[in-house]
Amino acid sequence: MSRKDRDLIDRKIKEEKRFFDTDLLETVESVFDKATISTVLHLMRTKCIKSLKGVISSGKEARVYWGIDYEGRDVAVKIYYTLTSEFKKSMWKYLAGDPRYDEYKGMNWKKLIYMWASKEYRNLVRMHRSGVRVPKPLCIKNNVLVMEFIGENGVRAPLLKEAYEEELLSIEDLENIYRDIMDQIKVMIREAKLVHADLSEYNIMIHMNKPYIIDVSQALPINHPNAQEFLRADITNITRFFEKTGIQVIDPEEFIKELLSSD
Ligand code: ATP
Ligand code: MN
Repeated sequence: MSRKDRDLIDRKIKEEKRFFDTDLLETVESVFDKATISTVLHLMRTKCIKSLKGVISSGKEARVYWGIDYEGRDVAVKIYYTLTSEFKKSMWKYLAGDPRYDEYKGMNWKKLIYMWASKEYRNLVRMHRSGVRVPKPLCIKNNVLVMEFIGENGVRAPLLKEAYEEELLSIEDLENIYRDIMDQIKVMIREAKLVHADLSEYNIMIHMNKPYIIDVSQALPINHPNAQEFLRADITNITRFFEKTGIQVIDPEEFIKELLSSD
């Protein structure tokens, strides 16, 4: 092949890639506003993500996309909706009682969402640094958060609930995962000084037989006035789930007592 031919092919590939991105952006465009599109483009320009490949999940507060970064690695791109009211309701539950609450009241809705997304990013950073097994946060801009992809070849790992229901876990796996999750909670409280506040079999993914904790936007500092209440709910959820699987579990109150003791 001549140099000229090779250049031509390279250029074609480049063009195709551009179209590919545009195609995907069109699907993003049908759900998100202009500001969100330009945020995604900004993250592409600044080389955080190279392309979006497809939707992984459309949840209550966000859409999660599978993307590729400039090193060819899979990434998860969580894009928060800036328009839904369902999310508004659930968000206030966590914001009320936060010492910074008054600052939020005067903010416009979009800014609040941006703040919420950056809160998830900062919570991920704090947890990741403290050794909690969460997706590694990579970048954040406005309502778009990019993090490590939990899964393989663009296929996300199953949630704990799915892995259990699809009988992918042996009793021994369940025992190990349960113990591991309780350890993660300990590290979260003692090192990261955060309570997840929405922990359940729906917000834990199982990858290589290990639990990854996700969805940490609502996590709050242990000095939040309702922190203990949320912690109790988290531990109760996890205990109830594993009790149902038939493995031996620790009494939640015992666990909380041990967790909050100073040793
Ligand atoms: P939901 O309302 O379903 O709880 P959400 O808007 O709160 O969704 P998340 O729970 O953070 O958002 O993510 C939604 C789904 O996207 C997860 O259940 C999981 O399947 C997938 N997901 C999230 N983060 C990642 C990741 N880092 N890697 C792979 N998949 C992910
Ligand atoms: Mn979730």
